[in-house]
Formats: sequence, structure tokens, C-alpha cells
Amino acid sequence: MNRSERIFNFSAGPAILPEPVLREAQQAIWNLDGTGIGVLEHSHRGAAFQEILDDAIERCRRLADIPPEYHILFLQGGASTQFFMAPMNWLKPQDTADYLVTGSWSKKALAEARRFGNVHVVCSSEDRNFSYIPPRERWQFSERPVYVHVTSNNTIYGTQFHDWSGFPDDAVLICDASSDIFSRPLDVRRFGMIYAGAQKNLGPAGVTLVIVRDDLVQRGSEQLPTMLQYRTHVKANSCYNTPPTFGVFVMARVFRWIEQQGGLEAMAERNRRKAARLYEYLDQSRLFRPTAEKESRSWMNVTFVTGDPERDARFIEFARQAGLDGLKGHRSVGGMRASIYNAFPEEGVQRLIEVMRDFESREG
Ligand SMILES: *Cc1c(COP(=O)(O)O)cnc(C)c1O
Repeated sequence: MNRSERIFNFSAGPAILPEPVLREAQQAIWNLDGTGIGVLEHSHRGAAFQEILDDAIERCRRLADIPPEYHILFLQGGASTQFFMAPMNWLKPQDTADYLVTGSWSKKALAEARRFGNVHVVCSSEDRNFSYIPPRERWQFSERPVYVHVTSNNTIYGTQFHDWSGFPDDAVLICDASSDIFSRPLDVRRFGMIYAGAQKNLGPAGVTLVIVRDDLVQRGSEQLPTMLQYRTHVKANSCYNTPPTFGVFVMARVFRWIEQQGGLEAMAERNRRKAARLYEYLDQSRLFRPTAEKESRSWMNVTFVTGDPERDARFIEFARQAGLDGLKGHRSVGGMRASIYNAFPEEGVQRLIEVMRDFESREG
């Protein structure tokens, strides 16, 4: 990294992107592959963009071994639009959808589903400010949910699901994977749909990746506005209207970058190592402590506090001056949050530990 120009960015989203991808994007904005036209200026109906779209889909499918019965869509409106688009399509007024409530985002998803049908809370960790993933013995599913919604990584609270057991075999699982998609291997076959706003682990804000099984698409309501039916986007290969072309371009390049890193297994290995290093430091620190319970800790968002908000603020400023930005925690947890997504380099984690150590010896 060129330290004179770029600093370590721990922002939760929009977040850091791989440096080679940014360089390619820089070039492509000026002149895409020698076409004499920049990627922002190409028609979405033209061959150049169609090639980018095909490439994005193909790489995505290969990366996560996505079976042919799943469609890969690039939509707009963020993950937040999926909060209502999914229930709009599948939840009828007399039916019930199940929600695991493990943070603010799953609460928001639940609130949207309520507009369309019955909802059932399988479990909640709100009693301890979402600092843990409720253990399986506390999960209670409804009789016949049309789907079960889960948030794989709780960006704000720094907790994450680490295994997918405990769900009924026949349940249609819908997963909001906005903040951990492609950070580790993913068994797509376990899910009916997976969605993710791009701006954490995949690309720029403004594009949402949706991976959805064909039978669900076919089952969706036909009464909805055209843009809100998944089948519209499936039929038109994400080009019913103008898709977020630049977002798709960057995502395709991020997929390629992940492949070059060795794929999802290699990503997981690196992410596990980065998070472990950080938690290891925090666990022995006399000044800082992690806020998430041990078994539920996220590899993507590491939340921690000193216990004194003024001291937290001092640390955030101290870190900022040392070239570490974006460490301020979300207001609902306070303290600090280090978001260390796929593109975040190991040397940045090491640097954060050094800066914490330094601060600790000053304040201790
Ligand atoms: C950021 C985030 C969202 C919201 O995404 P938008 O694209 O801003 O709508 C939803 N769910 C999770 C888990 C997130 O991290």
C-alpha cells in the first residue's frame, strides 16, 4: 500500500476494496478495454457491458459453486429493499414467516415482513444488546413457515453464525449475508435465497447481489409492480431496466480478485487469522475488552470498548492520528468497531494491535 496516499480504513460500509480492483476501475472509467469509452458511459445493452455481466455471473457461480437452479441477480435499492421484496413475493396474509432476531438489521427485516403477513420470532438476543447468537436449544420455529430469515453476520454488534445446523431440513432459508458474503465457503444449497448489499464485501454501494432458487422465483406473487417481482429480473437477466453497471463491473473484478487469492477457502483462512489475532490481543488487554460473546464473535466486525466512553473517544482520535480510520463503533454499541472485510490487509490488523498497545501503555 502506498502509505503516503491511503490509510487503513476500518469503515463498516462502504468499506475498503482490493487495491488492484481500484486500479483497474480507475483505468476502466477512462477507457474500458480499449473501446475508447469509459465503463460509466457504456450502454447496458451493448456488447461491452453484456460481457461484464456474463463475466460477473460466471465468476460468482464458480466462486461459490452455485448450482444451475439458482439465479444470480444484480438489483438496486440495497439490502433494505430485500427486507420487503422477499415477504412481498412470498408471504401471504394468512401465512407465517420465521425470523431469527440477532441485531438491528434482522429487526428491520422483521418489521417489513409484518406488513404482508404473520411473523414469528424464532429467537432473539435483544435481552443482552445482541451480544450473542442465541443457542440452538432456545430456537422455536413456527408450524409451517413459508421461509426462515436469518442474518449471517451482525455488522453492528459484531456477532456471526458459525454453523448452519439447527434449521429444519425442509425450511426455505433466506439469508441476509450483506456483511460476510464470500468471506468463507458458503453452501448455497442450504438456502432458498441469499442477498447482500455490495458495499461491505463485494463492491461499491448501489448494487445488491441476490442469489435465488428458481422454484421460489416461480412461486412469487404476480400481482406486484413489475420491478418488485423477482421473475422480472430473472427473465431479463438483471437488465429489465438500467442495471447498476459500474457496480456490476467492480463486483466482477472483486470476484476475480477473490479467485486470485485462492477462492473462498483461502479467504476464510485469512479472515479467521486476522480476527483471531485481534481477539487474542483484546482478550489479554487490561484496557480493552470485546463486546461479543466468545462463540458468537464475528470475523468481519470486531467490536470492543474500554468501558469509559471518554477514553474510547480518546483512543479513536489517537488511532486516527496514527493513520487508522473508521474505528468509531455504531451508536447502539458504542466504543470501537474494526471492520476487517476480505479486502482489509493483515498488516492493518497488526498496525491496529500496535496502536492499541501503545495507547494502553500511555493510559495504563
Ligand atoms: C449494511 C447492512 C444492511 C443494509 O444495507 P443497505 O444496502 O444499506 O440497504 C442490511 N443488512 C446487513 C447485515 C448490513 O450489514
